[in-house]
Amino acid sequence: MTDLPLSDPSLFTDACRVAGRWLRVEDAAAGIAVTNPADGSTVATVPSLPVETLREAIAAARDAMPAWAARPAKERAAILRRWHDLIVANADDLAQILTAEQGKPLAEARGEIIANAAYLEWFAEEAKRVYGDVIPTPAADRRVLVLKQPIGVCAAITPWNFPNGMITRKAGPALAAGCPIIVKPASQTPLSALSLAVLAERAGVPDGIFQVVTGKASQIGTEFCTNPDIAKISFTGSTEVGRWLIRESADDIKRLSLELGGNAPFLVFDDADLDAAVEGAMIAKFRNSGQTCVCANRIYVHDSIADAFAEKLGAAAAKLQVGPGTEPGTEQGPLIDMAAVDKMEAHLRDALDHGAELVSGGARHALGGSYFQPTVLKGVTQDMLLAHEETFAPLAPVIAFQTEAEALTMANDTEFGLAAYFYTRDLARTFRVGEALEAGIVGVNTGLIANEAAPFGGFKQSGLGREGSKYGIEEYLEIKYLCVAGL
Ligand code: ADP
Repeated sequence: MTDLPLSDPSLFTDACRVAGRWLRVEDAAAGIAVTNPADGSTVATVPSLPVETLREAIAAARDAMPAWAARPAKERAAILRRWHDLIVANADDLAQILTAEQGKPLAEARGEIIANAAYLEWFAEEAKRVYGDVIPTPAADRRVLVLKQPIGVCAAITPWNFPNGMITRKAGPALAAGCPIIVKPASQTPLSALSLAVLAERAGVPDGIFQVVTGKASQIGTEFCTNPDIAKISFTGSTEVGRWLIRESADDIKRLSLELGGNAPFLVFDDADLDAAVEGAMIAKFRNSGQTCVCANRIYVHDSIADAFAEKLGAAAAKLQVGPGTEPGTEQGPLIDMAAVDKMEAHLRDALDHGAELVSGGARHALGGSYFQPTVLKGVTQDMLLAHEETFAPLAPVIAFQTEAEALTMANDTEFGLAAYFYTRDLARTFRVGEALEAGIVGVNTGLIANEAAPFGGFKQSGLGREGSKYGIEEYLEIKYLCVAGL
């Protein structure tokens, strides 16, 4: 069925997991072709499920939930832990599948898989520590008992930039809390989600508890937002679709967790270790070909070191090996599609037209398709398009600043507030700037900020809620208090 070099070919499937059954394109009216961005070939065709099948999945989740929620947390934890171990044991195969549909280098795909399987391990542990409270009351004959209960059937809508990791991040806390989850992966990258369903079944996740549905995004979104059996939607994607989900689910007051767009600032002060800042910027900007919601979108550098920084960053970017993700040594794969290339070119053209200077890159790559040269610009100003819109591509604009206050004003001049980064060796500035940045995640002297122990999420229009950490499981729990009287 696939010519991918897998040691376990059964991990590659084009079938959705619904109500304990595997549904192929023959079970649907239409299919969705999955394309390899490295060469444009078709990797597989997954079903475009009709709305009746979605409803079947939701009903199966509703029916499966009571037994799952009633199991001792220790049992749910053991299953999650097994799922984690299977993902880690099969990481090489899962990376092949991920790279075939998404394009990122195999090593990066493997990194995504291992780093995010860790959310299953983390929440397997947290499952056992969902503590309540006993609260003394104003009346002597009463006690207040606080319980935390699973929120209900959850739906997840996930993006193509982390086809594997964005699923374990949501399924981990949901299942740990006692909730079933139905995942709609991005149409570009459903195969990683389907391979996770194969391993979930192998790990002993019961039927109806982890389901994957593929199909028309707006139809599935509408069903999730309006079906009374869905209690919560967890979404990672664009702010535009996030807003739509809020509106569409308003009648039912659905619980929402939203990880939306970013426009991360990356500040380099004149007391920073310049080489470390360049290294951090390379990670924060060029990881996943610039296609992450925490990618540095605007790089502000103190005027006295802006040119030196831009030259060093340009030299490092020019060394990145661009190629198919499966080729050994590749550091940057193709962009997801030609629309991504168009956006990068529009931002680049606008900046150059308004006086920015090219330091390195600046054109489509000789490999053709959606490959693009890693690009660094200097002399960028705050009024250019790329300072206000998320480029989501390997374009690094360097903007010079004079004072800390000016840098902060420009950094916070955005409706987004997901990640921010800054480099300094001054302790007082670390606190001052760290506290002043309007972002949910701030990297100080690092370009890599996500891990399962930390709360990931945004301020402002970057979203609602947090993933990971002790806070992450709360998103899947309701608080109930029992008022016990007559004591
Ligand atoms: P991106 O621009 O990164 O593709 P999107 O927000 O369009 O971000 O996509 C993220 C996820 O949201 C994908 O799974 C996509 O299929 C899904 N999606 C897009 N439009 C809708 C919609 N109207 N309702 C529900 N999901 C949607």
